[in-house]
This record gives sequence, C-alpha cells and structure tokens, in this order.
Amino acid sequence: MAIEKVLIANRGEIALRIHRACHEMGIKTVAVHSTADADAMHVRLADEAICIGPPAASESYLNIPNIISAAEIAHADAIHPGYGFLSENARFAEIVESHDIVWIGPKPEHIRVMGDKVEAKRTAAALGLPLVPGSDGPVEGPEEGRKVAAETGYPVLIKAASGGGGRGMKVVHSEDELEAQMSQARSEAKNAFGDDTVYMEKYLGNPRHIEFQVFGDGKGNAIHLGERDCSLQRRHQKVLEEAPSPVIRGDERDRMGGIVAKAMADMGYRGAGTIEFLYENGEFFFIEMNTRLQVEHPVTEMITGIDLVREQIRIAAGESLSCKQDQIRFRGHAIECRINAEDPKTFAPSPGTVKAYLAPGGMHVRVDSGLYGGYRVPPYYDSMIAKLIVYGSSRERCIMRLKRALEEYVIEGMKTTIPLHQKLIDDPEFRAGEYTIKWLEEWLARPE
Ligand code: ADP
Repeated sequence: MAIEKVLIANRGEIALRIHRACHEMGIKTVAVHSTADADAMHVRLADEAICIGPPAASESYLNIPNIISAAEIAHADAIHPGYGFLSENARFAEIVESHDIVWIGPKPEHIRVMGDKVEAKRTAAALGLPLVPGSDGPVEGPEEGRKVAAETGYPVLIKAASGGGGRGMKVVHSEDELEAQMSQARSEAKNAFGDDTVYMEKYLGNPRHIEFQVFGDGKGNAIHLGERDCSLQRRHQKVLEEAPSPVIRGDERDRMGGIVAKAMADMGYRGAGTIEFLYENGEFFFIEMNTRLQVEHPVTEMITGIDLVREQIRIAAGESLSCKQDQIRFRGHAIECRINAEDPKTFAPSPGTVKAYLAPGGMHVRVDSGLYGGYRVPPYYDSMIAKLIVYGSSRERCIMRLKRALEEYVIEGMKTTIPLHQKLIDDPEFRAGEYTIKWLEEWLARPE
C-alpha cells in the first residue's frame, strides 16, 4: 500500500532525519511533540504538528493513547518510531497495526523475542549465530550460577534478561563474590525493568563491539550492509562509531554478514535491524539484536550509499528490498561523532540556549542535528544534540576531514563534547585503530 503521510513518534535529530527521508519521497509528515519541544526544528518543518503532552516523556513521547489519537486526527497512514521511546515496544507496534496504521518497523513478535535477551540468545543460537558461552537460559539462584561459572570459567558477567543501557550487569571475578553480585544484579534489574530475571555469560577480557546492519523484507529475503565498530564507549554508551571496522577483513565481513543475513531470511525478519557481537581473537560472539534504526546508522549510509530510512519506509509499504546482496558495494570510510550538551571533562549535562551556531560543511560532511541559533535545548531528554558524520576514501582521509570539520563547528551557549572528539581523534592509538570496549574509559582516566 502507498504511504502518503507519516507520523513521526520521536523528537530531536532522528525526528528530523525521518522527516527528511519522507519529504524526499514525496510523503507528508506529522510531528508530535511535548510542550517542551514546540520550537524544535522538526516541528517547524513538518507539514503538521500536534502537541501530545507535557515535557515528561512518560506523558508525551511514551503516551500511546495520545500518539494514536494524533495519528487518527491527522489521518496519518503510517508511524515511524525512530529509536528509543516506543521503538522496541511490541505492544505499541500491535496497537498501531490494529488501528490499520502501517508500522514502520519489524513484526511485533520479532520485537518481543529480541527484547527478552534470554529468548534472543535462544533464537540466535537456533539460527546458527555464535554465542558468548554461558547459561542456557535464566539462572535461578547462586547454586546454578556457581555451576555455570565453573563450566565457563571466571570472570563471568551477570546480565538482566530485560536489560538495556548496561543496567543490571555485574562482573564476578571469583566464586566468593557470586552470591552478593547476583542479588545486586537482581535488585538493580527489578528496579530498572520490573523484572529480576538474570542470566550469565563469560566475561570477555578485551573485545571490540562490532555490529551488523541487516534488512529483511518480511517474506524471506534479507541482506546485510556490513559492520560498524562501536567499541568507543563510556559507561556502555557509544561515543564515536566507524564503518568499516579498522580490524575486520573483507572475508570476515562476507562470512559473518552472510550468516546474519541468512538468519534474518530464515526468521522472515522485516525492516531494519542490528545484530550486535563482541569480537575477540578473530571470533564473533552474539550479544543482542536491536529491532530498530540505530543512532549510528549514517556511517553505514555513507559507505553504501543506501538511505536506510527510505528503505524502512519502502519495506513497510510492502515493496521489495531495493537491492540484492551482490549489488552492495562498500566504499571508503565513515566516522560519526555523537555531540552531547555536556562538559567534555566531567560529562555533567549542560543544556542551554544556542547563542551562535555554525555547522561545518564541505565535501562528504554531514550534520544531523535540530540545532539553530536561539534554540533552547530542553533539559528533559537525552543530551545528544548533534551527530557529525564524515566520509573519506580511506580511514586516514576520513580522520583528517573530521578534524577539519570539528575545527569549524561552532555551538555557543553551552558546553559540548566537541573538544573531547578533537582530542580523541588526535590520539595515536585511535589513529592506529587499536582500541577495544575498555579503551576509552582508560584513556579518559589518563593524567593530562
Ligand atoms: P545493554 O543492552 O544493557 O546495552 P549489551 O548486552 O548490549 O547490554 O552489552 C552492553 C555492553 O556491555 C557491550 O557493548 C559490551 O561493552 C559489554 N558487554 C556485554 N556483554 C559482555 C561480555 N560477555 N563480556 C564483556 N563485556 C560485555
């Protein structure tokens, strides 16, 4: 069915990103926003805008009845959830579909399976993906935990089945710590997710975080768009991402990409998805799957030339994938810097009013941001205010262009993490591509 009007159930840069893809396809957009976002760029640009509640996300961006009402009032024929908020809420997807509105996302049952990490691992194993060694499902108590740990060997990691954002995760170095850490992980998980189910994995010492972008048409066809390296993390939050990974060889990409694409085809997966792995000593270990568009999707767009949001919309409209696996070419290198309104040293949030704004430009420089001069960054939401994405024919040229673009970028009126990125991309170890998921935190702790 043809999609003519999309309601964007999100805010910030991703709402703008979706709006842009829609308008390039001749599709009208409906912005929904909280009272705190009335002046947001995507609200200004959308064809229609509807206020759905007060600043608290629980009463606006997570308010299902208000969002559905907005879609009905505006006669939107599809909803794009972006990332975060309701994007991985299977119930919301079902409600949208039950109102005869097209859900621009995966089938609700796949969102549900992958949202439970224990189920996700079972499914991944059944589909032939390699797993981190660990428990075969939930771990009920310390006794079972001790048994699993004895098999995999210490250290082990206790993880929450409903986990996200690194919460409810505990490393256990030896048997005498196990009981206490397990009860802590359980209570943290209960508090954060209302579910104290935990499972266990071998704790990998020094892996990289490598994720594959996949797309399925929901009818048994699927492709992969290569990997992204998201190892540069602080408190399990990604800071800078690149594609391709500086350490993955072409044959490894083809092999693992082939495995994930086949898994998605076998599953009948529909839409965009990301399969996350830890990678150590040449081996991949599945950790989770995200059933949505990712923040870092632009680096994949830069090296493949494929507009992922356009692809999501096409698939939701029942069209086929726009290309076959053998038509996809990976060219050059791309890096994304997440720019947050934060102190670059302490990471304390620093929302404020934009006094002066000048985004970098020039060849192969992309800025995804809703900032403009005079805009007030509301204090209620995520602190990410911009993404700077740069392409180069090689990693070296990409880094030089990124350095130049960061120099040009002016955001006055608040502290941002631009200086952090400038320092980071000058570091010789970063330049050499020699980093793992532990590296950034150690680097941040180094004396000046
Ligand atoms: P969440 O959904 O809470 O973000 P993930 O399973 O995606 O949890 O893991 C988040 C991060 O935690 C990973 O990117 C990695 O840095 C670290 N991590 C997860 N599992 C392991 C493991 N088995 N060994 C070492 N580090 C891990």
